[in-house]
Amino acid sequence: MKVLVTGGAGFIGSHLVDRLVEEGYEVIVVDNLSTGRRENVNPQAWLHVADLKDPDWAVGVSADVVFHFAANPEVRAEPRVHFEENVVATFNVLEWARVSGVKTVVFASSSTVYGDARVMPTPEDYPLEPVSVYGAAKAAGEVMCATYARLYGVRCLALRYANVVGPRLRHGALYDFLMKLRKKPEELEVLGDGTQRKSYLHVEEAVEATLRAWRKFEEVGEPYLALNVGNVDSLTVLDVAGLVAEVMGVAPVIKAGGASSDCRSSYLSVEKISKLAGWRPRLSSADSVRRAVRELLEELES
Ligand code: NAD
Repeated sequence: MKVLVTGGAGFIGSHLVDRLVEEGYEVIVVDNLSTGRRENVNPQAWLHVADLKDPDWAVGVSADVVFHFAANPEVRAEPRVHFEENVVATFNVLEWARVSGVKTVVFASSSTVYGDARVMPTPEDYPLEPVSVYGAAKAAGEVMCATYARLYGVRCLALRYANVVGPRLRHGALYDFLMKLRKKPEELEVLGDGTQRKSYLHVEEAVEATLRAWRKFEEVGEPYLALNVGNVDSLTVLDVAGLVAEVMGVAPVIKAGGASSDCRSSYLSVEKISKLAGWRPRLSSADSVRRAVRELLEELES
């Protein structure tokens, strides 16, 4: 089976590619290398450098299944950037899937589609009320996926990930803290007041969840399905800062500053994926963060 991974030179996508190659799939990576890196791409996968904003991005490419992981994941990017990188690019992937007869698209969505949910852990049937343009772009991507599934038979599985951490991560609070503390171990400024609460999942577990959910999705008949992929506990931003410092063996003065552009709290229910695909996270949020920091330090120092 031929599997296409968009964003396969980035963080989660490259780990997914490694697993797919390991399991014997023929893997094609499409990435414009805007933030992704060539060295992240498994040498047994074929890398097609192209920009998904270009409607002709897929010239010479074919696949049975698409894992659409390319995006601009920086919540603070300009609204137009989110529209182009996250809405137009997703539309171009779906349109290509329709025209070329791809049967299944797995779409990397996000917990940010729920915004500041009032129910936690948040189940999948909670209304989509994003509080960032990034979250809105993911919600728009989901609606397009569901519509392509209904209209054109391009079946789609949307996976709403919580914060994923691990080697090759190059964005988000954990990476930002680690880089700041390497430069200046005596102090650390965190965005917002530091009490924002999220759950954290190690990338190895996120990839396991992705593959289990996809395989189950191929067995069931539904045209469209959305599943949360998160952890069963959560941490505040201050907790994460403390854990990063602990693993690095430093004791910074932690200062809260600036406005946070993200939702205040997010904590996903994983009951649905657990029942459907038999997946539950094994590491706690704190252990996922600790392991990711150790791995990133090793990676950055090698
Ligand atoms: P990442 O930035 O590491 O990877 C994204 C990849 O997409 C990069 O390699 C980049 O070069 C590529 N890309 C971006 N725009 C492109 C374009 N127009 N054409 C072709 N390639 C393009 O991000 P990530 O953390 O690996 O996230 C992967 C997916 O998971 C994204 O869709 C993201 O929104 C989603 N997600 C991530 C997290 C997380 O915690 N990392 C949480 C929820 C959802």
